[in-house]
Formats: sequence, C-alpha cells, structure tokens
Amino acid sequence: MKTQGHVNRRGFLRTTLLGAAGSVAATGLVRGNPVLLKENPEDEQRFITRKLGKTDIVVPVVSMGVMRADNPGLVKAALDKGMKLLDTAHVYQGGRNEEMLGKLLKDYPRNAYYLATKVKPDGYDKKKGTFTDAEKVKSSFLNKFNISMKRLGLEYVDILYLHAISTREATLSKPVLEVMQQLKKEGRTRYLGVSTHSHEPEVIQAAIDSGVYDVVLVAYNFQQTHREAMDKAIENAAKAGLGIIAMKTMAGGRMNKNKEHPVKAGTALKWALQNPNVTTSIPGFTTFDQLEEDLAVARDVALSEEEKNELALATHDTLYCDGCAQCVAQCKKSLPIPDLMRAYMYTYGYRETRKARDLLDELAVTPDACATCDECTVNCVKDFAVAAKITDITRLADVPQEFLT
Ligand code: SF4
Ligand code: SF4
Repeated sequence: MKTQGHVNRRGFLRTTLLGAAGSVAATGLVRGNPVLLKENPEDEQRFITRKLGKTDIVVPVVSMGVMRADNPGLVKAALDKGMKLLDTAHVYQGGRNEEMLGKLLKDYPRNAYYLATKVKPDGYDKKKGTFTDAEKVKSSFLNKFNISMKRLGLEYVDILYLHAISTREATLSKPVLEVMQQLKKEGRTRYLGVSTHSHEPEVIQAAIDSGVYDVVLVAYNFQQTHREAMDKAIENAAKAGLGIIAMKTMAGGRMNKNKEHPVKAGTALKWALQNPNVTTSIPGFTTFDQLEEDLAVARDVALSEEEKNELALATHDTLYCDGCAQCVAQCKKSLPIPDLMRAYMYTYGYRETRKARDLLDELAVTPDACATCDECTVNCVKDFAVAAKITDITRLADVPQEFLT
C-alpha cells in the first residue's frame, strides 16, 4: 500500500525549518567571529598527499568543498593550514560563492592553490539525461564559464567540470566536449572533469571512453549499496589515468531524520580515503571545528574500531539514496525519484531547505504527484517509502521563501 506522509504545513515548518534555523545560528557565530589561524608548514608536511591521475596536481587527501561556506575567513584558514584545492561551481549560492573566492584569492599567489569550478549548460533534459540543441548548449556553456571567470577574477582554473551528470550520453555530449576542449586549448582551464552523483559507474566509464576528461568528481560513501560497481569503475578510471575526487562522503548528513546514529564527518571521510584510487575529498565544512576535524583526517586516515562501529550503526535507516534509478522505471509516472530523494536528504540530512527548494523548482513535481496512485508500485533497493517521502518533501514548494535556510 502507498504510504502518505500526513505532515501538515505547520508540522513541516516545525520538523524542518526550526531544525535548520538552529544550524544557521551555529554558522552565525562563525560568521561574526572569524578566527585567524596561522600557517604552520610543519602541519602541511604531515599531510598525506596523493597525485590526481595523470595531472601534475598533488594535494592532501582532504580538500575544501566551498559550496556552503560563505565565510572567507574559513577559506583563508583552510589555505593557510595547508589545504590546496578549492571546489566551487557556477551555481553555488547564486554565484556569490565564486565572487567570495574571487575577492579572497586576490591576496594569494596563483601557485598557492588549485581552483576547480563546474558549469552545466542550459538545454539539459533531466528526464532523458541528454543535452538538446547543440548550439544552445555551446553558447550557454561558454556564457556561464565566462561569468564564472569574471566572478573568480582568474585567467584560468585548474579543473573545469561538466556539472552533475547522470548518463553516458550527457557525459559524451559532442557540443559539450567540443566547447570544453576549446577552453582547455585556450589555456582557460588546465584540466577537464565531469561530476556525478547518480549512475556513477556509467558516467565514470563514459569519462574513461571519452579520452577527454582528466578528472571525475564522484559521490562516494559508506552508504552506497552499489559499492562493488563503484569500486570497479573507480579502479578502471585510475588505471586509465583519470584522477578521482570523492564528494558526498557524509552520505546525507550527520544522522538520520530522527537524529539517531550520528556519524562524524571525519569518520565518513576516512572511509572514502581507504580506497587508494581516491586522490582527495571535498567535504563541505562550514565551521572552524569541522575544518580541524578534516585536517586531522588529512594526517591519519586509519579507522579505529570505534569508528568502524559508528559506520556500521549508521547504515541503518539512512537518508542517502544511491541514485541507482531502479525505481524510475517502476513508477507509474516515471517521477525523478532519485532527485526527489536528494531534495529530501538536503532538507532532513543537511537542513538546507533552500537548496532542496531550488532542486524541486527545477524538477517541477507537484505536491499531489503521488495522490492519484491507488498503490505505489515502487520497490526501492533501500526500502525507502518513496511515495511518503515525495508527498512530504514536495510540500516545501508552499513554504514561504523567508523560512528557507
Ligand atoms: S507516482 Fe510513482 S512514486 Fe508516486 S505513488 Fe505512484 S508509483 Fe509510487
Ligand atoms: S530511491 Fe531507492 S531505488 Fe530509487 S534511486 Fe534511490 S536508492 Fe535507488
């Protein structure tokens, strides 16, 4: 039987937004009181470093996912403490993320850091997983990239990714590859990459087959059920000389929806770094304490017995959707269920309702999407009650903007 999530709007506000408001308050402390950390070359020397495929980039095993950080003091601390690679994207924080980095990086010599950004051109059909209209794709990619470079104030980036791709067709899209190769030829990016958090093994194999990409940025964490396929794809990529960077290592937040079984970010990071084919990771830390936790991992990736137990407990009742998409074909309406589960995770795991809302707006799934089905025909590999989750999360569309965090 289909399960409906009977949470009214007030209940939704109470269970999501109030929780999210707490995390804003915590971040606010950091924003108002930037801590200036001194560079310590000895710390840097003790970091475990790995080489990024066939590129000339060698970095500590932990880098910075700047995505959620709007405090330049935190980015400065990460660089001064020895992190080398900063990861952003054209869309993060509506462009303010790149602007913030642009202002900060003026104070650093260009060889003091590596900068990666991501672009997704218009004309992507999410349902089909393909790009349409070659000319539009090319001009849109170029236009977005130029805007990003202006925000960053840089002559070149170190890695330019095609952002958030989930199919072989999109990874190998001819117009996208042409425009990216042109930018590399012009010296505006040193290396090319693709990022994916859905159908990862398929995208990784396409990246290998393309002969164009140098790096893959991939969701990789202890909650994925298709781990064998992931490890094989990553191994093949490494053999082919591609660099692998892990993201989403936290697998949907520090705990489940009921705030049980917390997992430390450091523990989850260590899990991903057990794979020697993973060069580095880009945790999205937002506090100085989290930075210190991640720096400690960069010095020692060994998992203690206690940490192994922590991971074992957390694999139950997870919020993390594998993105395997097996559910889509089973759904009577072919709803984009993996993306809807991601919006659910953003809300209940990360407490980022604005990010969830942006994704929902893009998907254009209405709150009554599951209401007309007598019975849900979907059997999720993780036993998610997808209809209940969809009914719950799509009501975010009715929540006023001022309540989003
Ligand atoms: S629309 Fe799809 S997910 Fe929703 S109840 Fe129907 S079959 Fe299940
Ligand atoms: S909802 Fe379940 S079946 Fe669908 S992509 Fe996620 S893990 Fe796979």
